[in-house]
Amino acid sequence: MRVLLASPRGFCAGVNMAIESLELAIRVFGVPLYVYHEIVHNRHVVESFCRKGVVFVEAVAQVPEGATLLFSAHGVSPEIRQNADRRHIRTIDATCPLVIKVHREAIRFSREGYSIVLVGHEGHDEVVGTMGEAPHAMHLVETEEDVDRLEFPAGAKIACLTQTTLSVDDADRIVRRLKTRFPQLVAPSRGDICYATQNRQEAVRALSPEADVVIVLGSQNSSNSRRLQELAAQCGVPAYLVDSVADLQPDWLRNNHTVLVTAGASAPESVVRQCVDHLRNRYNATVEIRSICDEQVHFPLPRGLPAVQL
Ligand code: SF4
Repeated sequence: MRVLLASPRGFCAGVNMAIESLELAIRVFGVPLYVYHEIVHNRHVVESFCRKGVVFVEAVAQVPEGATLLFSAHGVSPEIRQNADRRHIRTIDATCPLVIKVHREAIRFSREGYSIVLVGHEGHDEVVGTMGEAPHAMHLVETEEDVDRLEFPAGAKIACLTQTTLSVDDADRIVRRLKTRFPQLVAPSRGDICYATQNRQEAVRALSPEADVVIVLGSQNSSNSRRLQELAAQCGVPAYLVDSVADLQPDWLRNNHTVLVTAGASAPESVVRQCVDHLRNRYNATVEIRSICDEQVHFPLPRGLPAVQL
């Protein structure tokens, strides 16, 4: 077996920042410490923080008054922040700066009187947060068919934003359809799909043709991980999204296979390592690291966290 280990893969700068923020917050404020929704969409990461005493909540009402609450990398709507303030909860905002950028664009477009078409997945934490910045102006679309159903008055000002973790190809198709239907559409000069999503997709696109099977490490509720699996499948290669090596099925793999291994932006490197070690031990695999670009992106820790060395 030959393993192609895709690079870049795994944790992005936003996920690193959110996890470091939570580790530091535990040291500074102690536990129980509350996190609004999953810190990142990965079962291993969430379970490891649960073991340390972190409590993940679905509503601000679940957080006791005066406690500490961390907002995850996906961001929250202003309503959630206001609810936390009303309950005198100390908040730490670990929203990824690239998600904050989309929130700011939503605020700006809505102030300037635009109707905003948000391309994204209904119910995803990031989409809920972004829509909450300008709820009266927002129209969510997931498909080209959704675009066809949109109706705006003649001459309406229309802007477009996207979720940061979409398929680049799907988003391109949807935005093209939007521009065909609404030629006056404006969009941020550089799209909203983040560098990490684009790079991981680009690596899968470049390397899948060499592979017999693609293994994506990541959780089922991780948008960017699912997009990697879909992209590999669109390249004509059987592709599987697994949380860990324990989910690998022997009948997916053969000794003479070339296996492309990658990981979504919320999947820790430890699960990649375990997977590669398993392929080495079980199939005598040789491993080639295949890098399509170098990532040097780091985000500062959020305000509200004292400067304590981890
Ligand atoms: S996937 Fe992109 S937008 Fe999401 S946390 Fe990572 S860098 Fe930020």
